[in-house]
Amino acid sequence: MFVSESLNINEQGHLTIGGLDTTALAAEFGTPVIVYDWDGVRRNCRRFTESIDRYYGGNGRVLYASKAFCCLASCRLAHEENMGLDVVSGGEIYTALAAGFPADRLYFHGNNKSEQELAYALDAGVGAIVCDNPEELARISRIATETGKTARLFLRIKPGIDAHTHDFIRTGQIDSKFGFALETGEAMKQVKKTLASPGVELVGLHCHIGSQIFDTKPFVEAASVMMGFIADIRDETGYVVPQLDLGGGFGIRYTEKDDPIPLDRYMEPVSDEVRRVAKERSVPVPFILLEPGRSIVGAEAVTLYTVGSVKEIPGVRTYVGIDGGMGDNPRYILYQAGYTVLNAAKAGEPADDVVTVAGKCCESGDLIQENAPIRRVEAGDVLAVLSTGAYCYSMASNYNRIPRPAVVKVEGGQASVIIRRETPEQLIENDV
Ligand SMILES: *Cc1c(COP(=O)(O)O)cnc(C)c1O
Repeated sequence: MFVSESLNINEQGHLTIGGLDTTALAAEFGTPVIVYDWDGVRRNCRRFTESIDRYYGGNGRVLYASKAFCCLASCRLAHEENMGLDVVSGGEIYTALAAGFPADRLYFHGNNKSEQELAYALDAGVGAIVCDNPEELARISRIATETGKTARLFLRIKPGIDAHTHDFIRTGQIDSKFGFALETGEAMKQVKKTLASPGVELVGLHCHIGSQIFDTKPFVEAASVMMGFIADIRDETGYVVPQLDLGGGFGIRYTEKDDPIPLDRYMEPVSDEVRRVAKERSVPVPFILLEPGRSIVGAEAVTLYTVGSVKEIPGVRTYVGIDGGMGDNPRYILYQAGYTVLNAAKAGEPADDVVTVAGKCCESGDLIQENAPIRRVEAGDVLAVLSTGAYCYSMASNYNRIPRPAVVKVEGGQASVIIRRETPEQLIENDV
């Protein structure tokens, strides 16, 4: 059953989020609209920050991976919750700074940061840059030296862990565009180069093995490998790397098939392994960073659409046409991502139909879900897609010149717009 701390069914049998009726929200704000239970997002932030206290004695920090859902409101929330922010572009840095986020808690990621982005980040005074490749190391060292600054660096390491998840969201294995490989000696070489480069300070190592991972084992293995590498670096160079960023990737529930592990069941074995290797190799336990994105925002939002047509093709399938699609949620066309879809006004009634939910773009692949069980819908009904809080709005496009949807938060039982619906005028704003 989909009922959670954020989602419920009211007396009329309607789906609610943050205690508010989704059919009323659709009527008030129009569709398509993405609605967040903001109290739920805050609750997730606290779960992570409290776990740093519990498992690392407070000697660590949680960075919200802003790419999951980046806007002024999400950056402000991360600031209010005393988190850091993982940013991957000049645009995300700009958004964070515009939200009043302190620059020294920004961690700048990316596998190909431009010269301008690096200069901007250094000028803004970001807390750290996560360096991905040798050319970038040289670039950062040069810009920092020219501007009389010292860049605090993490090195992104591929720990050689193969997390079992979709190919496009696996990042820890050797065949990945991200970071320096450990097993080839490339990573050690870059550590030595960093230690010898002017204008940079090596403050940490970073790994992120992938996303939507349900197993604790790859996380424990990654922590083990990274701690071993910290000890190897100490042995070879005498330098003790003070910080270790273990990345994000914690899985959430999209459909009944997904069984997310409670945070403690991940934190405990990972922190045990960090301490075990620290003891075995006589290195101090580093300051630990975590970078959850999906698990902060993903399950705390629903997208509400209006059904425009129901096209039954006898013996084939039934297409339900909605007023959004790949423009506001490209995850099915990208990864064949699973989703739970509901008839918002009959959320409490059992499914009696199996449908393919199709978007309105001129692409046959513009689907939200295929063969999804649902309580029969007809034109005019509100259709809710669950767990759309991560990598939907942030990946949204204007394909077919469809304006991006509005985004609403529900906080303390009050709904308010956090991102306005895009207008047709905005669509031609940059056209000349
Ligand atoms: C995407 C990403 C994250 C967040 O991943 P989630 O699966 O959303 O938790 C964290 N760190 C890095 C470097 C990433 O690229």
